Amino acid sequence: MSKYHYVIVGSGLYGCVFAYLAKQAGKKCLVVEKRNHLGGNAYCDNIEGINVHKYGAHIFHTSNKEVWNFVNQFAEFNRYTNSPIANYKGRLFNLPFNMNTFYQMWGVTTPEQAISIIEQQKKSANIGEPENLEQQAISLVGKDIYETLIKGYTEKQWGRKCTELPAFIIKRLPLRFTFNNNYFNDRFQGIPLGGYNKIIKALLEGIDTETGVDFFDHRTHYEQIAEKIVFTGCIDKYYNYTFGKLEYRSLKFETQTIDTQNYQGNAVVNFTDRETPYTRIIEHKHFEPENPVYFNDKTVITKEFPMEFNGSNDPIYPVNNQQNTDIYNKYKALSMQEHNVIFGGRLAEYKYYDMDKVIEKALSDGKREFKQQN
Ligand code: FAD
Ligand code: UDP
Repeated sequence: MSKYHYVIVGSGLYGCVFAYLAKQAGKKCLVVEKRNHLGGNAYCDNIEGINVHKYGAHIFHTSNKEVWNFVNQFAEFNRYTNSPIANYKGRLFNLPFNMNTFYQMWGVTTPEQAISIIEQQKKSANIGEPENLEQQAISLVGKDIYETLIKGYTEKQWGRKCTELPAFIIKRLPLRFTFNNNYFNDRFQGIPLGGYNKIIKALLEGIDTETGVDFFDHRTHYEQIAEKIVFTGCIDKYYNYTFGKLEYRSLKFETQTIDTQNYQGNAVVNFTDRETPYTRIIEHKHFEPENPVYFNDKTVITKEFPMEFNGSNDPIYPVNNQQNTDIYNKYKALSMQEHNVIFGGRLAEYKYYDMDKVIEKALSDGKREFKQQN
């Protein structure tokens, strides 16, 4: 007789939402997490009273009302709107690409003028159907913006040439011919007051958890105590790299406390040149101006340095190029034959998911799973 209905490997949002639904269905779960805290990449540290997004800026945005209502049960959200600034060698531009950016780049004041310049630059580049990120970017915003705001940032972020990266990555960013600096097009957006840990804590209430434990160090034990495994770690490792290793991009975060009320005037500043070794600086307090410590003379900033995943740092972004997609598809085919293992989340599905999409997937997987059993 197994001790748990489910052992859930990983306490990111996928694992936590699945555990929550399982508990509601009367199932007993254990969540096993290799880091020394719960919450995956959404986890917040508390430094000087400021909620610090330990694994990079996390802004909740969604167009899915069910997901928005779901997360709002666990925390109140503010109405934060993400509007990053790009710094290219000291020149500042608004993001995402919109009329403010086009004015700053070319001095144009109407959509017609902006569209005309982009069309000319696209024509000179002679691009048909875009086959990679470089071609996609030039087709969307022209050569000047590609070279100033995209090329350097993207090549350091991914450690690969823009011609070797999939086009979809740049399509994450909105392109608008209006004066609107909102980085997302979604209907709902905000930051949970008090940080993401509040949501994680509420999801995992009453559920057994173990932190600082790698599933692979005690695999047989966990497989014996569980009827089913929910796996949110790296799928290639789960299958002992049978079809080869998947590539991931990693990040190193350097966090500093500074004795000033306001360091950079915005939560997110991107450094889009190739030479600056980090991609962005996050000033965490600006996510939550409602926090009483907002006006204190202390602030916390984090620089993000991209690097390759080498097995000892954290796998963070899947590198969804053709070679990795081919390898992943073989693992996926194996995973489809499993009856007692559910694979979910960014690492196990090898997918560049945002938080809302991970929650949406966990809700639908959970609903399917528990309906089957009832
Ligand atoms: P994760 O959060 O990665 O959780 C997986 C967990 O599993 C980790 O805690 C890991 O330690 C654990 N684990 C792995 N292997 C094992 C093992 N063998 N044993 C035990 N535990 C294991 N999304 C947004 O919506 N908005 C944003 O603004 C945003 N910004 C982001 C910025 C950065 C820098 C990054 C990296 C991501 C960002 N995201 C954002 C995406 C968001 O982090 C993910 O969508 C979400 O965290 C994925 O949840 P998950 O459960 O799939 O994975
Ligand atoms: N990007 C860019 N310049 C920027 C911001 C983003 O070229 O100033 C590109 C880059 O390739 C990045 C992609 O757009 O990987 C997606 O950006 P997003 O902000 O969604 O990245 P994430 O927050 O997921 O790291």
